[in-house]
Order: sequence, then C-alpha cells, then structure tokens
Amino acid sequence: MHLIQSAADMRAFSNQCFLEGRSIGFVPTMGALHSGHISLLSKAASENDVTVCSIFVNPAQFNNREDLLKYPRTPESDLKMLEAAGCTAVWMPQPADMYPHKPATGFTFGPIENVLEGTHRPGHFAGVGLVLSKFFNLLQPCSCYMGLKDLQQFLVVKQMVEELNFNIRLIGCPTVREEDGLAMSSRNVRLSASHRAQAPVLYRELVKAASAIKNGTQAKTACHLAIAAIESDSDGKVEYFEAAAMPDLQPLNSLPEKEEIALLLAVFYGDIRLIDNIIVELN
Ligand code: AMP
Repeated sequence: MHLIQSAADMRAFSNQCFLEGRSIGFVPTMGALHSGHISLLSKAASENDVTVCSIFVNPAQFNNREDLLKYPRTPESDLKMLEAAGCTAVWMPQPADMYPHKPATGFTFGPIENVLEGTHRPGHFAGVGLVLSKFFNLLQPCSCYMGLKDLQQFLVVKQMVEELNFNIRLIGCPTVREEDGLAMSSRNVRLSASHRAQAPVLYRELVKAASAIKNGTQAKTACHLAIAAIESDSDGKVEYFEAAAMPDLQPLNSLPEKEEIALLLAVFYGDIRLIDNIIVELN
C-alpha cells in the first residue's frame, strides 16, 4: 500500500495511473475508520483498478473548534484496516499542504444548504465543497464513493459534481449499522457506555416514523412522536428530527406528495452529536 502525503505526490500518482490506463476509485474520509468506511472501499475496489482512501480531518468543515480538536484520530489502526482491505494508496495530507493560505474562493449551494445540517453547522458544506473540489482536481478519480449516512452531504456533493462538471461518477453507498441498529460513526467511540446503550433508539424511531408515515400518519406528527420518544427513553437531546423532500431536502409542508422522502435527525448525547437518516419510499 502506497502512503502519500503531499499534494504533488498525489498528482504524480494520479498521472501515472492515467498513463497506465488504470481507473481510480476514491474514498474520502476523516479517519478513525470502521466497517462503514471499509464498505465504501470494498465497493471501490470491486469497480476500479486502483483505490485511494484519503484520511484528512478537514479543519475547513468544522464550525466547532472543540469538535475538531476532539475528533478521534487513530492512524495506526486505520492503516492496518486499509491494508487488510486491499487499498492501493492512502493519502494523508497535511493541513498546511492543503491550505497554504486561507482560500478566498468559496462555495455556496443554495436551498439544500439552508436546511438541517446547513442551518445547524454554518459553513460546514462550504468546507466540504472546498476540500472535495481540491481532492477531485488533484486526484482525478473516475468514481468517488460516499456514504448515505451523511445524506445531505452526499446530495450537496452530487449537486457540486453536476454543476461544476467534474468528470466523476459519484456513488452513494448504504449506511452500515451495528447489530443493534446504531449507524456506525467515528464519533460512537466517544459515547459513554450508558449513552452507547441508549443510542440505538435513534434508528428504532426512524424506522417507526417511516412505517407510520407509510401507513398514513402526517409526517410532522410522526416526527413529533419520535422526538418525544427519543427524549423520554434516553438522555438524547434532539437538535432536529425532520421529514424532507428528496432530493432537495426541502421541508414537507403537509402530507407528502412525493414518492420518496427522507427522515433525518441530529441528536446530542452529552457533547457527542450523532446524525442518521432513512429514506422512505411512498406507495
Ligand atoms: P467520515 O470519515 O465520517 O467523514 O466519513 C467518510 C465517508 O464514510 C463519508 O462518505 C461517510 O458518509 C461514510 N460513512 C461514514 N459512516 C458510514 C456508515 N456507517 N456506513 C456507510 N458509510 C459511512
């Protein structure tokens, strides 16, 4: 497995792959890897000649300094997992290499940025857009694999890829869960034992709300019931639990007329913020 640090070395690796006619499948991550990340890598490996996984805790996408400082970093076990998964190259850039100076170029994404994560994490998607556009330009992957666990992120990046004509196939991959339903997340290791035991209520309530909506309950009512259940059955403090139209994630005003909607949540356990979602097919 190649270990690459500088942007220049990444570009050289990419050029070499191009000359050899080898397709690159790219998996961008912030490290502290788990089976969810590895599922993206396995899919990339099955569809490409070469896989590149980036590990970069991108300062530009953190609106909360504390969260950035406390974000788990486990490079040794990450490298072992990637090696075992057959990853071709790991890219671990340094912030000073990615951002030699504060960029003056910025990203905005319109309505999809003004809801949910966009409202609660101002500047987050601008940071995601910035780092991914730099990664895409340096690496020139054929395909990029992202998790639907971060549904809004996936939809924002899809919009960016289409609008800026990146020649990249963006693949959304299903959320990998623990046996008790909790979505795998690098942040889960920071949960206390008690909060870890309580957190599966999130997915249970997503599933329950999805089924209630399918059976005719108003989306708003189903969300209110879910919020009440999460806050009474656990220490979770709900930041949002909302139904949104797919694929623009705009609020549903009344009974959904759409064929596909999403239920999305962000919940705090102590200072750990977990997100999850479920896509609901109607009819
Ligand atoms: P992160 O390291 O949290 O930035 O995540 C890197 C990529 O892995 C993103 O595309 C995430 O959506 C994806 N990912 C994170 N958790 C999961 C999961 N449980 N299942 C599938 N993909 C995931």
